[in-house]
Amino acid sequence: IFITIEGPEGAGKTTIIQKVAQELEVKGMDVILTREPGGIPISEQIRGIILDSGNLAMDARTEALLYAAARRQHLVEKVIPGLQSGAVVLCDRFIDSSLAYQGYARGLGMDEILSINQFAIQELMPDQTIYFDIDPEIGLKRIETNKGREINRLDLEQLNFHQMVRQGYKQLLQRFPDRIREIDASQPIEQVFLQTMKMVEKLIEE
Ligand code: C5P
Ligand code: MG
Repeated sequence: IFITIEGPEGAGKTTIIQKVAQELEVKGMDVILTREPGGIPISEQIRGIILDSGNLAMDARTEALLYAAARRQHLVEKVIPGLQSGAVVLCDRFIDSSLAYQGYARGLGMDEILSINQFAIQELMPDQTIYFDIDPEIGLKRIETNKGREINRLDLEQLNFHQMVRQGYKQLLQRFPDRIREIDASQPIEQVFLQTMKMVEKLIEE
């Protein structure tokens, strides 16, 4: 089964998915925990190009194509073989990130992003997606706190962008109601973990 975890920064995706993977392994399951963009060397390199471009200005379409390219390689090298071996594949971000961030928030259009990604993934959509919903103001503050920085005020531009990302995800929930399930990620982390765990176990049983 192929399960992806989605949501904005500071929603707790990475922390929670790690705990879920550990717990499933304790129960004797074969689990592949991975992330996007990245997960394998070529895709981690592409991640570096996208995220560490420094002062270099990257065009939004270039960025979207690079995410799709990283996704393709990761799918071929890691996700597909994992699924073929019968493992539970848990992926931190996948196509919905591109749809919400590049398609909606960056304004490239969800349909355009969907179509380049269909080229990249062919038919391989996740079996299920868990979306961690959180107000970006809370999410961004969590990140700042984790970094041990003092929060004076949130960058307004950044906040607006993340509000757009959230709206993008909300549209995806409407568009793919059977595939995407929502969890309130503003709850205490233990609570979010328990709900995610329950959801994942149910999906595996089905
Ligand atoms: O989830 P993670 O923190 O690894 O994401 C790395 C960065 O890439 C984040 O800042 C996220 O907002 C960004 N990202 C993006 N578009 C995507 C996927 C991730 O802007 N499609
Ligand atoms: Mg993360």
